[in-house]
Amino acid sequence: MINIPKGTKDVLPKESYKWHFIEGVVREVAKTFCVNEIRTPTFEHTELFLRGVGDTTDIVNKEMYTFDDKGGRSMTLKPEGTAGVARAFIENSLYGNTQPTKMYYITPVFRYEKPQAGRLREHHQFGIEYYGADSAAADVEVIMLAKTIFDRLGVGKLSLNINSIGCPQCRKNYNEALKSYLGARLGNMCSTCRERFEKNPLRILDCKEEGCKEITKDAPVVLDYLCDDCKSHHEYVCAQLDSCSVEYKVNPHIVRGLDYYTKTVFEFVSENIGAQGTVCGGGRYNGLVEQVGGKPCPAVGFGMGLERLILLLESLDLSVGKEYAPDVYIAPLCDKARSIAPVLANELRAKGLAVDYDIMNRGFKPQFKYADKIGAKFVVIIGEDEIASQSYGVKDMSSGMQEQVAKDSAIDYIVAKVGR
Ligand code: ATP
Ligand code: MG
Repeated sequence: MINIPKGTKDVLPKESYKWHFIEGVVREVAKTFCVNEIRTPTFEHTELFLRGVGDTTDIVNKEMYTFDDKGGRSMTLKPEGTAGVARAFIENSLYGNTQPTKMYYITPVFRYEKPQAGRLREHHQFGIEYYGADSAAADVEVIMLAKTIFDRLGVGKLSLNINSIGCPQCRKNYNEALKSYLGARLGNMCSTCRERFEKNPLRILDCKEEGCKEITKDAPVVLDYLCDDCKSHHEYVCAQLDSCSVEYKVNPHIVRGLDYYTKTVFEFVSENIGAQGTVCGGGRYNGLVEQVGGKPCPAVGFGMGLERLILLLESLDLSVGKEYAPDVYIAPLCDKARSIAPVLANELRAKGLAVDYDIMNRGFKPQFKYADKIGAKFVVIIGEDEIASQSYGVKDMSSGMQEQVAKDSAIDYIVAKVGR
């Protein structure tokens, strides 16, 4: 037998309703924020991610699904959603439109990571991208959008951590201070952090190793090194969140995993789903568009892990939607009835009802058992008696009440009963 690749998951017919529910909620919230969807390809030229995500990141160095296509071009399955959007923004001259350009995406994301609870090799993200707005108001707006989704889903117990990692100018000063602090302690840090030290010391603050965490606890804090512009940007974000009554914690250890961030970074974290508790991560990335070949353009956004969001809702016993069930199951009990069933089914479907009927040639009892199992609300019985009397038996499965209804008025009767 050929098995599913490690770190990937099937969504089976019985659970796809959860995905429709979550995707429905995020699309609806995006709509209320006047954000339209963008769809970009599942694979892009590898170069895009080398430039956009950054070649000092774990994603680019260790985790990308890269292959040569039959024309010998190096291609990579999306390891995140933002770089493709930035490419599309430039390639389609969206910067020429009146700004801002507000977009959302729902996309599979591929990373060769060690599979564990909440960490897959293919996962799915809902993402927000606001291009063209430099103001802190845009940062607040995307944070509010994420918050609105959590509120809509009833998730109250999430911590919002925010930080600013400044612009390249303030980061230069900070990196020096950080390196002089860490330099003396490098011997006690993990091998990955020792590699990060030269290339990207900021990333060390993100290390999950206990020993490294202990050392970085007392490291200099980037907020103390912000230039005036970055400082007032950060203060505006905090003040605006205060006035919107959004609770948050300024956490100087949030630096995010990708190279493209500037100024604001944030994460929504849950304690309910184990070690992989970050459900949503984002921030500002003013350098990205230029880095992938466009004119400088400010941008801010986030990525939200949909598998983790579903895990979170289930762990809190919150609704993940309702399993689909037929409104009507038609039970034909003789050959003639079997030719009536599809006609009646299609008439009811044309009214918007979900209708199923027997295609297994089952007898009366097994058909009822099946209708019960799939949760049909009503069963329409068509037997020889019904054909002779030009009527149908309609059974309400929740009350058990059955009525004979004249064939001519049956459609209206059933539609009214189902309540649509
Ligand atoms: P983490 O710190 O958990 O590795 P990340 O910083 O790599 O997350 P992002 O690249 O910002 O995450 O992706 C946005 C969101 O996508 C994360 O907050 C998380 O909810 C989800 N996510 C990231 N990687 C995975 C994965 N391997 N499996 C499932 N969900 C993931
Ligand atoms: Mg990661």
